[in-house]
Amino acid sequence: MAHRDLDLFVTWDETFTDYDFGPGHPMHPLRLDLTAKLATDFGLFDHPRITVSAVGDVDEDELRAVHTQDFIEAVKKAGEQTDLDEEFQREWGVGTEDVPRFEKIHEASGRIFQAGVEAARAVAGGGYDRAVNFCGGMHHAMSDRAAGFCVYNDLAATIRTLLESGYHRIAYLDFDAHHGDGVERIFWDDPRVLTVSVHENGRFLFPGTGFANDIGGMQAAASAVNIALPPRADDADWLRAIDAVLPRVLREFDPQILVTQHGCDGHRADPLTHLRFSVDGMRETALLARSLSEELTDGKWIATGGGGYSILDVVPRAWTQLVAIAAGADIDPRKETPQRWRNYAESIVGRDAPLSMTDGYDGTFAPWSGGYDPQSDLDRAVMATRKSIFPFFGLDAYYD
Ligand SMILES: [Zn+2]
Repeated sequence: MAHRDLDLFVTWDETFTDYDFGPGHPMHPLRLDLTAKLATDFGLFDHPRITVSAVGDVDEDELRAVHTQDFIEAVKKAGEQTDLDEEFQREWGVGTEDVPRFEKIHEASGRIFQAGVEAARAVAGGGYDRAVNFCGGMHHAMSDRAAGFCVYNDLAATIRTLLESGYHRIAYLDFDAHHGDGVERIFWDDPRVLTVSVHENGRFLFPGTGFANDIGGMQAAASAVNIALPPRADDADWLRAIDAVLPRVLREFDPQILVTQHGCDGHRADPLTHLRFSVDGMRETALLARSLSEELTDGKWIATGGGGYSILDVVPRAWTQLVAIAAGADIDPRKETPQRWRNYAESIVGRDAPLSMTDGYDGTFAPWSGGYDPQSDLDRAVMATRKSIFPFFGLDAYYD
């Protein structure tokens, strides 16, 4: 189906780079700056169908709808005090190596959370069909604890705001290399929210969860779907696994809107994971999200960033293309990156920036319909998910 031209709401201003755990931490704010600069130099932020909107301070009533008051107070305290003892760190997940404290931790984390609220309001209010919050995607944050570089959970903010606006079948798709444990946990027993996470197997990677037989709570069986990929899976493996599960389950669930997390830390250049994806595989997942939204949700779609620690070679290209695709203004992957952006990036990072928007992968993969290979690690992982989930949707793990 050809894509329609829909209006896109993008949350961005430079204050998002206040989310800064300091030098040496993998989640460097430059990743957002370089993304915004690349999107600007491709003309996206001046595009007639794109509205770029700044976001104000967090509304604490909204924050309390997702996070406990005690946790919010702990985050505020972490902004004020430098000496956070081990008990505090263990209880709240802040002040640790993964989530170091910094002065504006509540304000900066709150603004990303608020961006999740605003993105949902933009779409639920009818003014926009799609929104992208590329600074968001904090999928590890729990209601009462920070984890995995994530303090407040903007994705839960987006989903909660949609629920409050009357949506009651929301599909959340998590393409990050890590299991989307925070979002899954927050909506674990809520049958209105289907969470699907495709990630590197938790036996090899943080947070160590997200296995095929984790399918949601007693009130919401099969509302959580987990595909645990073998480490070192490549683009074709990734797309095959997604093809084997996602479209079939989504067609049965029949969502009213998609919320998708596009962490790009599965890239082969990423320092934190073992997966071997390319920016082209990421482009394919964004295109798939768009085509599923056109087929199933009348184009309603909210996308976020997420993990991604190759801040020059991967993050800017992955999320600029995501913004472009959400706006229906796809960038030809063979296109060169703008010279102005390369000059800027190289002046800051001190090495060559990528020359084009492709890593050379053409998007081909073996579709699941071609047959199941029980000798393949990938296929066994996918089949485990199908066996756990498909019967709940009236599907056959072997033949559908
Ligand atoms: Zn990640």
